[in-house]
Amino acid sequence: MTVITRFAPSPTGKLHVGNIRTALVCWLAARAAGGTFLLRLDDTDSARSTEENVVAIREDLAWLGLVPDGEVRQSDRFALYEAAFEGLHAAGRVYPCYESEEELAIKRRVALGRGLPPIYDRAALALTVEERHRLEADGIRPHWRFRLDAVPIEWTDLVRGPQRFEGAALSDPVVRRADGSWLYLLPSVIDDIDMKVSHVVRGEDHVSNTAVQIQMFAALGAAIPHFAHMALLVGADGKLSKREGSIGVGAIRQDGIEPQALLALLARIGTSDPVMPVAQAGDLIAGFAFSHMGRAPARFDSAELAQLNAKTLHLLPYAAVRDRLPAGTSEAGWLALRPNLATLNDIVEGQAMIDGPIAAAPLTAEDRLFCAQAAEAAAAIDWSVSPWAALTGALKTTSGRKGKALFLPLRQALTGRDHGPEMAALLPLIGRERAIERLRTAAA
Ligand code: GLU
Repeated sequence: MTVITRFAPSPTGKLHVGNIRTALVCWLAARAAGGTFLLRLDDTDSARSTEENVVAIREDLAWLGLVPDGEVRQSDRFALYEAAFEGLHAAGRVYPCYESEEELAIKRRVALGRGLPPIYDRAALALTVEERHRLEADGIRPHWRFRLDAVPIEWTDLVRGPQRFEGAALSDPVVRRADGSWLYLLPSVIDDIDMKVSHVVRGEDHVSNTAVQIQMFAALGAAIPHFAHMALLVGADGKLSKREGSIGVGAIRQDGIEPQALLALLARIGTSDPVMPVAQAGDLIAGFAFSHMGRAPARFDSAELAQLNAKTLHLLPYAAVRDRLPAGTSEAGWLALRPNLATLNDIVEGQAMIDGPIAAAPLTAEDRLFCAQAAEAAAAIDWSVSPWAALTGALKTTSGRKGKALFLPLRQALTGRDHGPEMAALLPLIGRERAIERLRTAAA
């Protein structure tokens, strides 16, 4: 089977972590099967959709490396919806309704008062042609409902397993407003059919939509696609916190998070597989399976993301980051500095340890003497092999120092810091002249 997935955000806002997880799973499912990953912009709501959001969605997906194989916009497809709607009308599967919001609210209250489910009573289905004409002559334009069949609706969800709804227990959904504009349900099905979507992947908040959409697929004479409804995303505390799931991609980018780190976390939370850093998003494809996704909420923890980001950076080869490094950072510099980075922004400070300027804290009189000794030793050693081993070896003998007393003042004098990358990797990059000069400055 050809796997075709679509990510269908509404450009009424910016993408957030929850959307990205959906996009990622759509992308993984398509790539794992050699299939197609499409972007569908659900912009039927012209009042709330903006071009700025459309551009931001494309940019965010590009930054993440989740590049769609094609894109459609619902606002370009009204003729398609109109044609399908006409067919459904002719077949009696959509019908006009004339109730106002207030009337519907009263009906719901009455039903609830009688202990009945607040489903639409289909009063409009019983209207005669004359009654409809009279209502329309009174200036009431109808909205349209899809007529559900009163049969059980069943599917095997790729994440949630067997699902069953009773058609008779569901309200006929409104699919079109009185002004002719479209609600989400029907255009989505028409598009999924037209785009030959094989797997509809989305959040579990859409499960009950799926029940009615399955009848729409059937009413339109189409095969029912596979469905995968992912569990919700929750915060680290396990609460259904809107905040974590609503963190925007922009904010994550600004925090210096690498796209691979975000994707590696989102690919694995809520699954039976461990979270692991990857050098590129493609490395997540082989391990992907819907069957590994759990029904329990997936925990998204910003602290875990920060840790994963560091581990991700530690994996990245020079070629992957070269364009984003400070001008002076060589491949050896990257390899020396990489193990100590939490975000790539830290590289600026790291590079300054190599080519300066550094601001060393003043040393004790004893340590200053030691640095004077070290400057002499640095001038005498062979720099071609392992200058750090040579320098510390020589100083161990001449100063009698060892351990922290030996290493810390040297690190402070040579880098201006108490902590940092391995001195063995750093010292050759600092180089003989600069090292001697820094040690002399520290000794003064
Ligand atoms: N625009 C809908 C949403 O963002 C799409 C749902 C779907 O994937 O069918 O919720």
